[in-house]
Amino acid sequence: MSDSYDVAVVGGGVIGMSCAYYLQKEGARVLILDRGRYSEAASTGNAGMIVPSHIVPLSAPGVISKGIKWLMNPESPLYIKPSASPKFMKWLWLFQKHCTADHVAYSVPILRDLSLLSLNLFDKICALPGFEDVGLAHDGLLMLHRSEYARKDNLELADLAEDAGLFIQRLDRDETLELEPAVKTEITGSVFFKQDASLHPELFLRALEARLINGGATIVDAEVLSFERSGSEVKAINTTSGRYTSNQIVLATGSWTPELASKLGQSVAVQPAKGYSITVPVTEPSLRIPCILADEKVTITPMPGCIRFGGTLALQGFDSSIDERRASPIRRQAAAYCEGSEAVATWAGFRPASPDGLPFIGSVPKYPNVFVATGHGMMGVTLGPVTGMLIAELVSGRATSLNVAPFNVDRH
Ligand SMILES: Cc1cc2nc3c(=O)[nH]c(=O)nc-3n(C[C@H](O)[C@H](O)[C@H](O)COP(=O)(O)OP(=O)(O)OC[C@H]3O[C@@H](n4cnc5c(N)ncnc54)[C@H](O)[C@@H]3O)c2cc1C
Repeated sequence: MSDSYDVAVVGGGVIGMSCAYYLQKEGARVLILDRGRYSEAASTGNAGMIVPSHIVPLSAPGVISKGIKWLMNPESPLYIKPSASPKFMKWLWLFQKHCTADHVAYSVPILRDLSLLSLNLFDKICALPGFEDVGLAHDGLLMLHRSEYARKDNLELADLAEDAGLFIQRLDRDETLELEPAVKTEITGSVFFKQDASLHPELFLRALEARLINGGATIVDAEVLSFERSGSEVKAINTTSGRYTSNQIVLATGSWTPELASKLGQSVAVQPAKGYSITVPVTEPSLRIPCILADEKVTITPMPGCIRFGGTLALQGFDSSIDERRASPIRRQAAAYCEGSEAVATWAGFRPASPDGLPFIGSVPKYPNVFVATGHGMMGVTLGPVTGMLIAELVSGRATSLNVAPFNVDRH
């Protein structure tokens, strides 16, 4: 089979589908190629939070020492498995290099601008017919704390967020419970991030898919195997379901992007960061406001028809096995909020983590008709629409709505 398109998007997670949406909006004839959208993608079982509150990148001071301290704790929220892989070692070296106060100060306005623009784009997308049921809710986010240690961390984040112009409230225990009486976690207080929002990530993906198909896009279940090149141009894509030609190509294959980009001689510094979630069906979630437990680093998100509990970040390659000990802090919260949670299986997904906590959004220098959109780590849902819009602008050769220099694919 051979067919020709304006743009082929490889990867049908939230990043690929958002790119496809904005490309189609520009009038492009779009092809989406994905080998396991609703099974393999991180974009389905995640916590569904849209988080301008997350202005501090993962690579922040103290993270490495926490990782080392937690190495022997089977329930710790962060796990870094020692590995001799040169790619992993390089990524870890780059990661620790960015764990500085200067890098945090550099990243805060970048992440704030990206996520606030994305939030605005979510409103526009979700106002369209077909998105009524995705559960977009502007209820904010409660960052809960129990220990003095977590309280201090939360208040530091609150100061940074306030300085960056975000709307926050510092709440004691009673004020938190007044705002959200359904909080069952033992707490001493919280920080409320008013601008944060949430949705059901899989329903959002399915609504995007329906819109793309209605608009004439082609979605093919296929694995991309190789690229055909001529000079500095990629001419065709060979897949498990045949050969496709396209004028431009977007690689949005999440944690698997390094493998695919390497076929073009392009290195992309992304490592899979495994996380878990447990989704308990409920008729009406008792909780209205999404919460993050700063002590356990567990997320709780009410969604249409369910409450989802998530957490852990394990850097251990593509090991998709589920370590129930590491999932137990998530399970304890699920049991506290919902009956029947023990019957629900644990889901695992790989966050595409960059070493500096910023995404890769830009063209491949050797092949200017190929673009990369990945590395969104803990914020792929949040940054889906803005990434899609920036990629559509880059593909069409227009000026971008935000400066994309910090997202350069070759920056490391
Ligand atoms: C537990 C957990 C909770 C999270 N919570 C949040 C949250 O609350 N808010 C937030 O903003 N983010 C959250 N995230 C992060 C978010 O889920 C990810 O950043 C995002 O889903 C990444 O999207 P993606 O499209 O880049 O990758 P993916 O969703 O992983 O999609 C990549 C796709 O590429 C396909 N693919 C790979 N290789 C090939 C190939 N060779 N050929 C064809 N197809 C290929 C895969 O099958 C897959 O479908 C969370 C993640 C986890 C794990």
